[in-house]
Amino acid sequence: MICERCKELELRYLGQTEGYIGFIERQSRKFRNGEIQSGRDLDGAVVAARTAMYDGLRAWAAHRESHAKAIRA
Ligand SMILES: [Zn+2]
Repeated sequence: MICERCKELELRYLGQTEGYIGFIERQSRKFRNGEIQSGRDLDGAVVAARTAMYDGLRAWAAHRESHAKAIRA
């Protein structure tokens, strides 16, 4: 069963994934251009972008789980 909220959360997660990938690409470019000196400089920002993506995935999974519970009940 898929509701409007499912679609909304899926789109949000896909957007966050796109955002994460785009972010990695931008950071990679900066590194290649010498604007970032070490991998360590990437860490904090990469972790923040990844955390946002995982939060989106968790919210989507939790919502789908709530459907499964509703069916069993
Ligand atoms: Zn739903």
